[in-house]
Amino acid sequence: MQIRLWGVRGSLPTPLDSISIERKVRTALSLAKPGDIISEESIDSFLKSLPFSLINTYGGNTTSLEVRTRANDLIIIDCGSGVKGLGKELMKTEFGRGKGIGTIFFTHTHWDHIHGLPFFLPFFIEGNRFNIFSSVPDLKHRLEHQQQYSHFPIALDYMRAKKEFFQIAFDEEFYLNDIKVYSKSMPHPGGAYGMRIEENGKVFVYTSDCEFNINVFDEIDTYREFFINADVVIFDTQYTFQESIEKFDYGHSSASIAIDIAARFNVKRLILFHHEPDYSDEKLDTVLANARTYLYMNSKVAGRLEVDIAYEGMVIDL
Ligand SMILES: [Zn+2]
Ligand SMILES: [Zn+2]
Repeated sequence: MQIRLWGVRGSLPTPLDSISIERKVRTALSLAKPGDIISEESIDSFLKSLPFSLINTYGGNTTSLEVRTRANDLIIIDCGSGVKGLGKELMKTEFGRGKGIGTIFFTHTHWDHIHGLPFFLPFFIEGNRFNIFSSVPDLKHRLEHQQQYSHFPIALDYMRAKKEFFQIAFDEEFYLNDIKVYSKSMPHPGGAYGMRIEENGKVFVYTSDCEFNINVFDEIDTYREFFINADVVIFDTQYTFQESIEKFDYGHSSASIAIDIAARFNVKRLILFHHEPDYSDEKLDTVLANARTYLYMNSKVAGRLEVDIAYEGMVIDL
C-alpha cells in the first residue's frame, strides 16, 4: 500500500505568513558563503545542505490522508483542509469524468477532520461513488449539519456524487476486499477512532486524535492488538511533553509518549503528526530532534524504531 499525506496540521489550517518566509530567507542568506551562489549547481547543493524548515514547510493544511491499496483502490482518511488538494488531483482522473469509486474513513467529526469536505471537488460530480465508513454513529447527520445553509451555501445533498454511509463496529476487525481494517476507540474528548489497516502482511496504523496520559497508561495493554508489530504508526503528537502535562485532558499526546508506546508494541516506524497550529517550521525541526534524542537515550529501542515527522506531500510505501 502507499500512503500520501495531504494535511498534517491539527486543529486549524495554518498558512505560512510573511514574517516566517522572511525569516527563512534571511537565515538562509546568512548561512551562504560567496562560493555557494556562483552557479545553479552551487545553489542547488547549498539549498540541499539547509535544514528542512529553511527550504520547505511542514504544511498548514489540516488532516487528510490518501491510501492506495495494491490494486490502486482509493481510501481517504479524514477530510481536513488537505482533502481539497487531493480532490484537485483526483479530478484529473476518472473522478473528473464521474466514473470514480472511493472509500472514506472518518476518525471523528471535529472540524479539523471534516472542514475540507465542502471543497472536495469529486463530491460535486454526478456518477462518482463514495462509500463512507466511520464508527461515529450519526456521521451523515453531522456532515449535513456542517453544510446547513446557516454555515455553508451548498448542502451535502447538492454535491451530486453518490454517497453511501456505513457504521463500523469498533474493537472488531472487518474486511474491505483484501484490506483488513480494525477501528479502535481512542482517548479523546467527544470520542475518536484509530484505524489499523493491513494488506499483504504490511500494517499501517493511524491514530489522530488521541491523548495517552498517565490515566490511560495504566491500561495501555488494551491497545496491544491495535499497535502490535505495525510497520508504520502515524500518531497525534501535537504537544511537547511539558505541554501535555499543562494541557491535561485537551485530547492530544506528545512525541515521548508516542515513542514509549511504539517501543512497547514493537513498531518499526513512528511518524509524528497533527502538528500544533502555533508551531513554526523551525519549532517542528526541534520537535523531531528532541524526539530522536529521547529515542536514542532509550537504548532498548534505539536502532529498532525509526522516528520521523509528517509533512505535506510525504509518501510512505509499504
Ligand atoms: Zn484533530
Ligand atoms: Zn479531535
